[in-house]
Amino acid sequence: MISKENYKVNSNGYYGKFGGAYVPEMLLPNILELQENYLEITSRPSFKKEFDYLLKDYVGRPTPLYLAQRMSEKYQAQIFLKREDLCHTGAHKVNNTIGQILLAKVLNKKKIIAETGAGQHGVATATVCALMGMECIIYMGAVDMVRQRPNVERMKILGAEIRAAESGSKTLKDATNEAMRHWINHPTDTHYIIGSVVGPHPYPDLVARFQSVISEEIKYQLIAQIGKDYPDMVIACVGGGSNAAGAFYHYLDRPEVQLIAAEAAGLGIDNKKSAATTFLGSEGILHGSKTLLMQTADGQVTEPYSISAGLDYPGIGPIHAHLFDSGRAHFCAVTDEEAMHAGIGLSRLEGIIPAIETAHAISALDKIEVKDKIVVINVSGRGDKDLDTYISWGKY
Ligand SMILES: *Cc1c(COP(=O)(O)O)cnc(C)c1O
Repeated sequence: MISKENYKVNSNGYYGKFGGAYVPEMLLPNILELQENYLEITSRPSFKKEFDYLLKDYVGRPTPLYLAQRMSEKYQAQIFLKREDLCHTGAHKVNNTIGQILLAKVLNKKKIIAETGAGQHGVATATVCALMGMECIIYMGAVDMVRQRPNVERMKILGAEIRAAESGSKTLKDATNEAMRHWINHPTDTHYIIGSVVGPHPYPDLVARFQSVISEEIKYQLIAQIGKDYPDMVIACVGGGSNAAGAFYHYLDRPEVQLIAAEAAGLGIDNKKSAATTFLGSEGILHGSKTLLMQTADGQVTEPYSISAGLDYPGIGPIHAHLFDSGRAHFCAVTDEEAMHAGIGLSRLEGIIPAIETAHAISALDKIEVKDKIVVINVSGRGDKDLDTYISWGKY
């Protein structure tokens, strides 16, 4: 039995035992400024009006909720695809960056910083900075800059300055450290845009609220199509967990809706090369919050691996740690190989080439019983950015 517990954040910034704000003392003023203001600002009618306007006319919302006929036949279920892949910039991430840049403006910030791993969040941030005419600095690991060259160039075209993180493994966590350091040194005029439901409170809740537009739309789109506002099941992939948090949000306290999260197993959960945090992780502090993360016995963060750049993260947001811990959501681990097959499967059945992150969510259909169920899958992004990965995998 799922309890009637509230799965949203509590007033102290916790989801069950996960969450909080574990930051160095020098970052506290920035974090407190956000904690004290984010709910009041984002609930102002003037804020909501501009947010809704940009989501509609700039991002292209509402995104369609499409009944996938051929896929439904294959699985003998009613499968709806929530088409976040049709958002401007090709994924859900822009919902959050628009919300955060509007918040930064109200807080009178002049500059934006962000960190990026694969470059997707960097591109979504550079996009809204161009839109608002704000200065944008993106920190990126030097190794990632080589691996993700097209996104580096996209960010430059959009006018962002890219700063290479040259410390440690020269990847995402090093870029995060440098962005934090920058923020400590520029507390008054700079806002740090975090790209998923991770980081110190209030970021996980802030990002979940901006992404919750996804399930807000699903509710009224389902009423129009099936006469009730909820499905039997919602499936989404989890890197940090922002698209999943958005797709689950309005169903968190509706136990009749099963929540399914797909994590990246990489080469397999028995292999060292994986990113399946709920299977391999343990409690600890990552990126300023208490959550589940992959770490060694002495607490060193393990370098994650997934074929999908967006799921290649050593933790999950605290909301997902709690959904896992409480049993509210079911987590499955999808290998690289399974995800790639599922991506080709969706392409052939529905004419939609998904992002490889999304392909992990599609693969969940083969791991759980969906027969006769009404299922919504969040199609978090499109596959254009992943064409090279599809090509080098080659089995199509
Ligand atoms: C970044 C990304 C993800 C993973 O991020 P979440 O915060 O877990 O949603 C998933 N899908 C796509 C297309 C992405 O770009």
